[in-house]
Amino acid sequence: MILCDIYWMTKSVVRLFLLIIYIGSLSTDAFAQVISQHSAVGTSFNEPLFGKKFAKGTVTSNRLSGGCFYIVSGHGGPDPGTIGRVGKHALHEDEYAYDIALRLARNLMQEGAKVHIIIRDARDGIREDAYLSNSKRETCMGSAIPLNQTQRLSQRAAAINKLYRTDRKNYKYCRAIFIHVDSRSRHRQTDVFFYHARKSSLGQRLALNMRRTFQSKYAQHQPDRGFRGTVSERGLYVLANTMPVGVFVELGNMQNTFDQRRLVIPSNRQALANWLTEGFVRDKNHR
Ligand SMILES: [Zn+2]
Repeated sequence: MILCDIYWMTKSVVRLFLLIIYIGSLSTDAFAQVISQHSAVGTSFNEPLFGKKFAKGTVTSNRLSGGCFYIVSGHGGPDPGTIGRVGKHALHEDEYAYDIALRLARNLMQEGAKVHIIIRDARDGIREDAYLSNSKRETCMGSAIPLNQTQRLSQRAAAINKLYRTDRKNYKYCRAIFIHVDSRSRHRQTDVFFYHARKSSLGQRLALNMRRTFQSKYAQHQPDRGFRGTVSERGLYVLANTMPVGVFVELGNMQNTFDQRRLVIPSNRQALANWLTEGFVRDKNHR
């Protein structure tokens, strides 16, 4: 009889405990839903960083709602990145990366996502020029960018991590993207490289989804060329030191004539931004 009572009591305690856990999980879910920020289709936005012509926009889809993105264009401020030359023009990598980054940011906002533009230029919006003028105005969310590489990279990593500590409570899908145009192999026409952090399976999944998207877009638009883009893990500072899952992309080769001809056409820069957007959509929906 006593044994039976103890058994019953233990069972009740276990049940009560499970019930508490259950209610606990219910309320966190409910709470998350309440504070999760969604931009509904039809909501308008105004981002002055996009420039006069592109500042205003509307959310046209909810494919990325509930998603939060950290958009980081490579280099900036005192560091122009790789410099390519076309006649009298000097093509600075950071300016082209920034233009693509802004186009991507705007696309993601149209898809209902929350977007943080980490590297900023108060004057250059999305530009329709072929030869993008060079400046050293870029900041890391308003703070001057140091020339020293370690300081420069740790500054942007810290900016992302600070935002992420709050965002992770409100958004289920947070991703960082580091956009570069240059390539390690000089004077060669290269395809696109996607890097993810070491031992990051979600980073690898994102990089693979990006590559799959690019592969199918290349097959559609440049079937004769083929696509040899690669996915690999790499111990890059920004990937290793930022908390949200990230992908690092190199979109071409600043010193290669074919890539230069491609990048100076604004619609090509838009196409690259569109493909990166589709890569995120594919990844968020686990396809
Ligand atoms: Zn670079």
